[in-house]
Amino acid sequence: MKISPLKDWLSDEKPIIISGPCSAESFEQLMQTAICLKDIENVKVFRAGVWKPRTRPSKFEGVGDIGLEWLKEVRKETGLKTAVEVASQLHVEKALKANVDMLWIGARTVVNPFLVQNIADTLKGVDIPVMVKNPLHPDVDLWIGALERLNKSGIDKLIAIHRGFFFYKNHDYRNQPMWEIPIELKRLVPELPVFCDPSHISGKRDNIFRISQKAIDLEMDGLMIETHIKPDEALTDANQQITPKELKNIINKISIRTKRKENESINSTIDKFRLEIDKLDAELLDILQKRMNIVDEIGKYKKNNDITILQIERWREMYLQRMDIGKNMGYNVDFLKKLLKLIHQESIRRQENIFEE
Ligand code: PEP
Ligand code: MN
Repeated sequence: MKISPLKDWLSDEKPIIISGPCSAESFEQLMQTAICLKDIENVKVFRAGVWKPRTRPSKFEGVGDIGLEWLKEVRKETGLKTAVEVASQLHVEKALKANVDMLWIGARTVVNPFLVQNIADTLKGVDIPVMVKNPLHPDVDLWIGALERLNKSGIDKLIAIHRGFFFYKNHDYRNQPMWEIPIELKRLVPELPVFCDPSHISGKRDNIFRISQKAIDLEMDGLMIETHIKPDEALTDANQQITPKELKNIINKISIRTKRKENESINSTIDKFRLEIDKLDAELLDILQKRMNIVDEIGKYKKNNDITILQIERWREMYLQRMDIGKNMGYNVDFLKKLLKLIHQESIRRQENIFEE
């Protein structure tokens, strides 16, 4: 993808903050919130939903077009860039007509390639930044697909926003962070800026700082955090919105850790540790390879002597015995289970191949 670097069109500050209420509710609410946010240095963009996707139709579904007029006033008064969520051609046309600075596509829209394509087609030839939230379910391809559709339409100012994933069980989070998904996105599209939206991951105020710090430690470029002048009275997502003052405290608390320090002795200590890890990983792979070679030998022997591959009693004993050793060594039990199962599955797979030969 051809992607324009953030510093060329937004800021090179870290972290860049996008903030504002979940929904535009009234002119006063928007303006008061924005005036407080304007004084927080890292805040570069003011967000507000004017069309709200709600689970049930009887809930507040946004103020609609009038919200776009309020946003114009906000920009005039504060100098902040403005951003709204769009989910259809009509939304895009209205937002462009009202000179909104940035658009975002919400998690419920990103799941649908028809809708995303329709938005991308509407944006052909338009130079506007677009933020793409992760789809509701953890599918990195679907997320990249949406970004690609926009990119093919000529949108090169793109930001991916990690807002967590729907999980059918109740949990500590409103949306599971599943950090491995944004990490995979960064691996596959390294030039793409990625922000985190701790508000929608957390679903409540308590965890916003912790999630923000984690996102910054994972080298995300910025944060989208919902703020409201009176969070308890918010018409949508009241539990997760914070005041601009609370946002400021959170930003001040976040530590920005650098990849490399200027200090040479720190760098050389880290290099030494890394060298050690490299060596151990090589040994680990070597030992695993030796184990697999024996697995192949046994496979051939079983085949020649008509013995079944999987002998559940033997696997059960092995598993319990290895778990015991591992637990005594202080391994995390979940990790141990996954590791042992993975090794066993691969061994079975290899022996199945031998049987089929
Ligand atoms: C929002 O940002 O208010 C919103 C609706 O987000 P999401 O699409 O991530 O649920
Ligand atoms: Mn919201």
